[in-house]
Amino acid sequence: MKPLTEQEIRAAFVNCTKGEVKRLAVPRDLADRPWDDLDYLGWRDPQAPDRAYLVAELDGRPQAVALRCPSPSSWQLRRSMCSMCLTTHTGGVCLMVARKAGKAGQQGNSVGGYLCNDLACSLYVRGKKEAGAGARLQESLTLEEKIRRTVANVAAFIEKVTA
Ligand SMILES: [Zn+2]
Repeated sequence: MKPLTEQEIRAAFVNCTKGEVKRLAVPRDLADRPWDDLDYLGWRDPQAPDRAYLVAELDGRPQAVALRCPSPSSWQLRRSMCSMCLTTHTGGVCLMVARKAGKAGQQGNSVGGYLCNDLACSLYVRGKKEAGAGARLQESLTLEEKIRRTVANVAAFIEKVTA
């Protein structure tokens, strides 16, 4: 994806109030992120481990979503699969919940999905990060197709948040 600045990222949030956007933690090392290998940028707030964020390009512009990992009990200790990149980890996948954008969110509606704890889906898909033996499905898809599928899954998730 195209490298983003902190300003672009903050402006891209679809499910936060202005105050939340101002306060939320954006990574300081944006310049060092492997943008060429990212389908989306995801990170956790080092000060608040239950908070995670992701930003992806959708319809040519960045859209960012704030996520919560509701409670430690939602951490999957058995092997489970990330719904974005379809990598299977033991204890490495977390149910993340995004408040919906706009009125629906104010009324308490949210969207959940199982995501890699470290939000490094792009790197798992490309084999640049290892998730352990048996983590990847044996598939006949090309890397290009797997990347396209991850991009589509992330886009579908963001669309659910903004719908
Ligand atoms: Zn993943």
